[in-house]
Amino acid sequence: MTTEVTSVSDCSVHNCGFNHDGCTAYAITVSGSPEHASCATFIDTSQTGGLPMVLAHVGACQRTECTYNSHLMCNKHDVKIGSGADVADCLSYAPR
Ligand code: SF4
Repeated sequence: MTTEVTSVSDCSVHNCGFNHDGCTAYAITVSGSPEHASCATFIDTSQTGGLPMVLAHVGACQRTECTYNSHLMCNKHDVKIGSGADVADCLSYAPR
């Protein structure tokens, strides 16, 4: 079980309401399917969401087949979010 908290070191999804020069959500949830891991916190809106700072973490991850998944959390040091198979994917996803 991981005791570290994974940071979101980069997010290039600029139409997300949480992206203000990086992810300002306190934590994101990663979901998707075995084909790709998507950010379930992504929301395409003109609303301003999040904190007045960039410190996002991976709060939970549903991609249990990912090498870095441990107890529905992520044990990688940091992850990058960006365009993949979907608009906002976890680009660090590494299925076993
Ligand atoms: S690297 Fe793997 S375990 Fe970590 S958030 Fe991305 S898909 Fe989930």
